[in-house]
Amino acid sequence: MKILLVEDEARVADFVQKGLEAAGYRTEVAPTASAGIDQALGAERPDLILLDIGLPDRSGFEMLAEFRSVDQDTPVIVLTARSDVPSRVKGLDLGADDYMPKPFDFEELLARVRARLRDVRQPASFELTCGEVCLDLRTRQANLNGKTVDLTSREFALLEFMMRHQGQVLTRPQILSAVWGYDFDPGSNVVDVYVGYLRGKLGDRDAQLIETVRGGGYRLRKGKEQ
Ligand code: CA
Repeated sequence: MKILLVEDEARVADFVQKGLEAAGYRTEVAPTASAGIDQALGAERPDLILLDIGLPDRSGFEMLAEFRSVDQDTPVIVLTARSDVPSRVKGLDLGADDYMPKPFDFEELLARVRARLRDVRQPASFELTCGEVCLDLRTRQANLNGKTVDLTSREFALLEFMMRHQGQVLTRPQILSAVWGYDFDPGSNVVDVYVGYLRGKLGDRDAQLIETVRGGGYRLRKGKEQ
């Protein structure tokens, strides 16, 4: 089990990391929200995220909202000194699964981590299907008609985001913020470039699967079986 700790305070990160590793978990630390989102949505996704709210680049709340727009399943426990009720409510509303006010007792944190990792996730939630395309979210593998398609982690994240929003028009800024996780120059054509890669790999040269919506963005055509 791998745990991602998003925490800018080295002393706290070190303490929590050592404790988690002593308890048998693999850990990864991200000191900023942008590093956190990259690691959270990267090639080897964590099984659980511990998220500090006061981060140097953006708040943990913003990172949580962005993460939840792509991944609704991975448990997130918010760690923060902001133990007041409005912050707690905000964290839970944004999709946090639990809340630990700092300073916390490490044994209690471990108990909450164990509880979250025990929550049985439905096998169905590990797969996304759209027509002939299927994504396995555990192995990060894409299949087309049962054959493996080699995708980079960014291509996979883009396709996953589109598959979670089948039939909806997704604007370039929405896609950028969900998949790249930071503000690109609005003139950047990175989304178009990656949609092009996906179309190529999915045999969608005539844009039947990923439609271009004039003046809008892109829409993944809804699969028949949903
Ligand atoms: Ca902090």
